[in-house]
Amino acid sequence: MTENKNNPLLAEWNTPFNTPPFNLIDTAHFLPAVEEAVKLAEKEIQVITENTDKPTFKNTIAALDSAGEKLGRISSVLFNLNSAETNKLLQEATQKAAPVLTRFSNDITLNTKLFERIAKIFEKKDTAVYTTEEKILIERKYRNFMLGGAGLKEHERERFRAISEELSTLSLKFDENVLEETNSWVLHITDRSDLAGLPENLTDAAAKEAVSRNSEGWIFTLHYPSYVPFMQYSEKRHLREKMFRAYSSRAFRGNEYDNRNIVIKIVNLRLEIAKMLGFTNFAEMVLGDRMADTPEKVEKFLEELYTAAKPAAFRDLNTIKKFASEDGLKEPLERWDWAFYSEKLKKKLYDIDDEILKPYFSLEKVESAIFGLATKLYGIRFSANRSIPVYHPDVKTFEVYDNDDTFLAILYVDYHPRAGKSGGAWMTSYRDQRKKNKKDIRPFISIVANFTRSSESRPSLLSFNELTTFLHEFGHALHGMLTKCTHESLSGTNVARDFVELPSQFMENYAYEKEWLDTFAVHYQTGEKLPEEFIVKIKEAAAYNEGYACYRQLSFGFLDMAWHSLGNHTEISISDFENEVMTKTELFPPVEGLNMSASFGHIFGGGYAAGYYGYKWAEVLDADAFQYFKETGIFNNKTAESFRKNILEKGGTEDPASLYKNFRGRDPSIDALLKRSGL
Ligand SMILES: [Zn+2]
Repeated sequence: MTENKNNPLLAEWNTPFNTPPFNLIDTAHFLPAVEEAVKLAEKEIQVITENTDKPTFKNTIAALDSAGEKLGRISSVLFNLNSAETNKLLQEATQKAAPVLTRFSNDITLNTKLFERIAKIFEKKDTAVYTTEEKILIERKYRNFMLGGAGLKEHERERFRAISEELSTLSLKFDENVLEETNSWVLHITDRSDLAGLPENLTDAAAKEAVSRNSEGWIFTLHYPSYVPFMQYSEKRHLREKMFRAYSSRAFRGNEYDNRNIVIKIVNLRLEIAKMLGFTNFAEMVLGDRMADTPEKVEKFLEELYTAAKPAAFRDLNTIKKFASEDGLKEPLERWDWAFYSEKLKKKLYDIDDEILKPYFSLEKVESAIFGLATKLYGIRFSANRSIPVYHPDVKTFEVYDNDDTFLAILYVDYHPRAGKSGGAWMTSYRDQRKKNKKDIRPFISIVANFTRSSESRPSLLSFNELTTFLHEFGHALHGMLTKCTHESLSGTNVARDFVELPSQFMENYAYEKEWLDTFAVHYQTGEKLPEEFIVKIKEAAAYNEGYACYRQLSFGFLDMAWHSLGNHTEISISDFENEVMTKTELFPPVEGLNMSASFGHIFGGGYAAGYYGYKWAEVLDADAFQYFKETGIFNNKTAESFRKNILEKGGTEDPASLYKNFRGRDPSIDALLKRSGL
């Protein structure tokens, strides 16, 4: 207890804006702070369940949403640091804290007294007077408890728990098998002539791989950084075929790592859970809180896009076939030829690489251009504040203000790679927005990235891909910063899974607009403006072979929906099932022994089950939204104001389909995406 007295995580944060006191926090503070904060949260929950007044929105739903405030702020510091600035000790602390947090959240879901109160409010939700936000929060809380099994009878609960546990074990096993199969197969080359066409950085890496395995020559693996460029550049067709067959038959080779039985087990258990909870199939259960909220809507969406993309997919296929035969391919084009000829033609048509573009995108200019874009669109401004504590000297902080000088948010930016930071880029928060006793508690948002550092000879220069990444994460950040909600679990980016990428992908569109690029993209040495021909090429290259790519994404979406729309127990062979579903999107002659489902980690390992369609869904939304800006002017304040009021401020407080309609004046249409992708 005395220890906890001096624990800065548990104390009031007397920092500027009450931001986390990173300068005072030590790794050893985390575990005792989490344990103490869980106790506090449990007491808050107890106050709710032991209340003798009849359950109301305020004393139950709102109270539950704001319970565990301290725990929330401590765990977000812990998890955010564990991604952005970690070390062995912090990883250990996180691993020890994780089960404490899981147990706490399971205890809540299985708290019958609490569920009874929520259920009472839920049952009467249509006869009482609630705001839209309140109604959604009631439904959300009720759904979370229901999906956690709270509504089941005691004997069903046992089965439910058993299935849940088995499912998580099976998903882990599925991923482990895919990983094992990815790791165990290699292409070993000993004859230098077999390296024909491969870029030097790839062969260097393959030589290193060979050395690390005490081998001669070059070793290529099925991991992305080796597999993808090998398929794009190897001129040795029979080796491409070998690689392709190995890659596409992972966990489908009849050995101990074969996933076919696991797929069938997962599909059946998911169906059983869905039925226990009163749904006809798993897809229906999952989609309940999405923007595309029924399997029928998803199917209709996939079909519509399928019909529209079909001609473009065949056009792309024929273009590559023609190019390949002109290039000397005598046999019919096969799957293992696609990446090779596609890349070769792309290089011929749009030869524009990162090194040519980078000098126009210095990080310093890009940052002020992106902040400036937000100022142009929404009138918000950013003011650097060096007195806010940070967790690493690289991190910069900004106060963000609205056009009338109201304080909106604190923004942290952490741009560069270092040991202890995960790869990739992400937006996260240290505090989400909410109202507490009518006071507006504003959010603390953070953007973390891995952009190339500056060197003595040049400033930090972004690749085009890094530019769009920055815009993407900044779009999420705007969603987090501009939000104006009442309840934390519905504010900011706490929205439906198939809606959350709209603000982020929307921002990426600006990277292709001359009107915006002209405002900042000049060569860091010569001061020359980014030439227009480059912009045209970037745009065309982005739409290159999009018909084919879209078709492929759709085929995965159909496969995902087919597995999860099954309404009866199945023992079907997974190749028969898959072949039947995939026939309609097949562009190449069939090949024996290949299977997608057995290594489809998104839906059987990770959390994309009945959600793979979401990638295309989000693209439709962002293209359609940006089209509106193009029609009215990409910096148009009125359009921006409407985007802000209807989308960015609203979080998950209204049905996403109506939010979108309020902004756009109609439902989303696929036309803008078709146009942008050249379909
Ligand atoms: Zn995103």
